[in-house]
Amino acid sequence: MNRTDLLHSAFVRANEFLDALPERRVPPTATLESLRSALGGPLPDDGVDPQTVLEDLDRIARPGLMANAGPRFFGFVIGGTLPVSIAADWLAVAWDQNPGIYVLSPAEAVAEEIASAWLIDLLGLPRESGVGFVTGGQMANFTTLCAARYEVLRRAGWDVNELGLQGAPKVNVVVGAEGHVTVFRALRYLGLGTKSVHLVKSDEQGRMRADDLEKVLAPLEGPTIVCAQAGNVNSGAFDPFDAIVDLASAKNAWVHVDGAFGLWAAVSPTRRHLVKGVERADSWAVDAHKWLNVPQDSGFAIIRDRAAHRAGVSTDAEYLIKATGEERDAVDWNPEFSRRARGFAVYAALRSLGRQGMRELVDRCCDLAKRMAEKLEASGRATILNEIVVNQALIRFVPKSGDADEFTRNVITRIQQDGTCWLGGTTWKDKAAMRISVSNWSTTESDVDRSVEAILKCVEAAS
Ligand SMILES: *Cc1c(COP(=O)(O)O)cnc(C)c1O
Repeated sequence: MNRTDLLHSAFVRANEFLDALPERRVPPTATLESLRSALGGPLPDDGVDPQTVLEDLDRIARPGLMANAGPRFFGFVIGGTLPVSIAADWLAVAWDQNPGIYVLSPAEAVAEEIASAWLIDLLGLPRESGVGFVTGGQMANFTTLCAARYEVLRRAGWDVNELGLQGAPKVNVVVGAEGHVTVFRALRYLGLGTKSVHLVKSDEQGRMRADDLEKVLAPLEGPTIVCAQAGNVNSGAFDPFDAIVDLASAKNAWVHVDGAFGLWAAVSPTRRHLVKGVERADSWAVDAHKWLNVPQDSGFAIIRDRAAHRAGVSTDAEYLIKATGEERDAVDWNPEFSRRARGFAVYAALRSLGRQGMRELVDRCCDLAKRMAEKLEASGRATILNEIVVNQALIRFVPKSGDADEFTRNVITRIQQDGTCWLGGTTWKDKAAMRISVSNWSTTESDVDRSVEAILKCVEAAS
């Protein structure tokens, strides 16, 4: 089997999958047992023909795939992939670049440099910021908080890179009660722990309460990091950034914003007010694989203070040929050493969408989330629990009799079994709820309407 036939076969299979995507059942049908037995068996002594490997993989894997790339997946916050980004990513994989240092991939280094500048401009963040092309929100939170930890300790006269945390001045970490789990995991990885975090109360929409932040900050002294959020994973709510930055600056604290999907609201003239003041923070975590609709895994760690960014995460070695001029060495901005050239897909998405395309993508997703929630509510069998400010809505189903929590969970299970669309559940302010998240470029009004119809059938069936 030659290479051309193999790659052509992959193209045909991928294209077929994408053609079928809008009409296929959204959740997978394969079971753990069926996948294990079909993919399993002993490792062959003599290798198997590559074409057979590919054929088998495609046939066996497909029923085990979630169609989150398709238009009726409303679970979590997972974007699809723009065709141009799939194509650019294919090239990146074929090129097999290792963009750790400039000499290994000048093209990726410059694509990242240009995409960073476009991104920062689109999001309205400080021009001088450093950008790391990481795997997603989790690593963006880790990378930014790593720089934050370095910098707040440096200001206290402590070099955490050399001395570690043993015997270091205490770092106060302040996080909103609705902070994302990945922020807490990043703190764990950074040796800052999770129990010692000072939690700030949130309001009914899940926004950090500035009055409580003031109380929490008042007794704190020394190195301090405040973690705010743009886009609550349940309600989509935004913290009050101006107030947070004002209070934090009085303490010389570092302000980090987890804006995995929410920061993209900045591109929309009708929603930009939600992120007012966000550019005054010190660091931002943003995803690319969510709202920018590039392939998994892709996100950005953005840090205003380039020196802190580099000092926090960069590395060097005798044998590394690092840049001596203006060239970008990705190891200075990323915690990874070798990695995939994920900048090409980002560059392709930004260039093909342009400012206007990104604006339309964000607005369309927000409008569709609202449409879906309102249609469900209009049926009389559902209530909307949150103020829908972006692409997230929380729905609670209304039983004819009995317990609404149980009923809501029952309806969600039926929706997942039905397969027309896919949504997940959560608990919001002690109430069971279904999360609607619209983050896919290909979702249309008719996908929303078709999903509403299927959901209402499940509501009837559960009654
Ligand atoms: C999705 C999300 C994350 C985690 O991002 P990954 O890309 O899944 O690592 C962090 N914070 C918020 C608010 C999110 O929505």
